[in-house]
Amino acid sequence: MAGSPFAWIDEQAHQRLQAGLVRTLRPRAADSPLLDLASNDYLGLARHPEITAAAARAAHRWGAGATGSRLVSGTTELHGELERELADFCGFESALVFSSGYAANLAVVTTLAPHGSLVVSDAGNHASLIDGCRLARGATQVVAHADPDAVRKALGTHEGPAVAVSDTVFSVDGDAAPLAELATACREHGAALLVDDAHGLGVLGDGGRGAPQAAGLAGAPDVVVTATLSKSFGSQGGAVLGPAPVIDHLVNAARTFIFDTGLAPAAAGAALAALRLLRREPERAARAREVATALHTRLTAEGLEAVRPDAAVVSVRAPSPEQAVRWAADCREAGLAVGCFRPPSVPDGISRLRLTARADLTDAQIEHAVGVISSVRRQSPPNWRE
Ligand code: PMP
Repeated sequence: MAGSPFAWIDEQAHQRLQAGLVRTLRPRAADSPLLDLASNDYLGLARHPEITAAAARAAHRWGAGATGSRLVSGTTELHGELERELADFCGFESALVFSSGYAANLAVVTTLAPHGSLVVSDAGNHASLIDGCRLARGATQVVAHADPDAVRKALGTHEGPAVAVSDTVFSVDGDAAPLAELATACREHGAALLVDDAHGLGVLGDGGRGAPQAAGLAGAPDVVVTATLSKSFGSQGGAVLGPAPVIDHLVNAARTFIFDTGLAPAAAGAALAALRLLRREPERAARAREVATALHTRLTAEGLEAVRPDAAVVSVRAPSPEQAVRWAADCREAGLAVGCFRPPSVPDGISRLRLTARADLTDAQIEHAVGVISSVRRQSPPNWRE
C-alpha cells in the first residue's frame, strides 16, 4: 500500500519543531486578566459599548450575514453610508468596503496591474500586498525598503501602466514610508501610487485621517489607498479609497469584490460607529501616538532595543526566534500579552516583540508594561551573537 499522501506535511512539521518555529492557537478568554499590548485595537474601540451596541443593532436590522456578494444581495444601505463617510473622512472621492483588508489589497493590486504593466513593491510590504503581486498579470519588481530612488529607478525601466506599492506604516517595525517622496517619484514617471494605510488610519493625520492625509496626498488623482476596519476601528473588514473611476473599476473587475460575500452588517455598523466616534473624539489618535512615544522612550531608557515608532506599533528587537518566544512567554506569565514576530512571518534574521500603543492605556499601565518587559529581559539577557 502507498504511504500517506500527507507524509510531506509530517516532514515539514518535524522541521518546524526542530527550528523552534511551531505556532499554536491560544484562545483568548472574554475576561482575560492579561494587559493587552498584543492586539491591533489601537484606539481601544473593539469593546467600546457604543461600537458593540452599533454592531448588535446592525445585526438585528440587517441580519447576521450580508446574504450574498455585493453585486447580488450583499449591499445594504449601511454599506453605502459607511463608504460615503469613510471617503469623506479621509478626503477621497470614493470608497469601497471589502470583507477584509487582505481582500482589499488583493483586489487593488490585481486590478491595477494588468498584463504588460509593472508593480514596484517595497521589500517590507505586508503579505497581502505580496500575494496581490503574485496574483497580478503584470510583472513585479521588489525594491529596497522605503527607498524612493529605488522606486524611481525601477519605474524608469518600464513602458506602460505602472504602480508603486507600499505600506504607509510597516507592520513589523512600525516605521513609516516616505509617502510624499514616493508620490513625487511616481509622478515623474506617470505611475500610480498605491498605499496600504492599515496601521495609519485612526492614528496618523488630523484626528486619525490617515498617513496619506498627513502627507498631503488626500484626494490626489493618482493615489489609491487601502485600509482595514479591523485595527483602529475595532471592527472587521477592509476598504479602498481613491478616484471614482478606480473604485468603479474595482466594482466591475476585482475578483475578491465580485466573488466574495459582502462585509457583514454588524462589522459595517461597528466601523461606522467607530468612524463617528473618532470624529467626535479626535484626541484618541494623538493619544495613541503619545503612548507609542512613551513606550519607546521608557523601553530605551531600560536598555531595550526598541525601534523608534512612527505610529502606534512599537517593536523591540530580539536576538533570535527562541529568545523572542521566551520573552513573550515570560511576559504572559507576568500578566502582559505582547506580540511575537519571527520567521516565516518575517524574513530570516528578524525577531521582534511587537507592542501595541493603545490609546486607552493609562500612564500606570505603560509603566507596568515597561517594568515587566525589562524584568523579563534581565532574567534572560539577549545573546546577540546567536
Ligand atoms: N495590511 C497590513 C499592513 C496589515 O497589517 C494587515 C493585517 N495584519 C492587513 C493588510 C490585512 O487586513 P485584514 O486583517 O483586515 O485582512
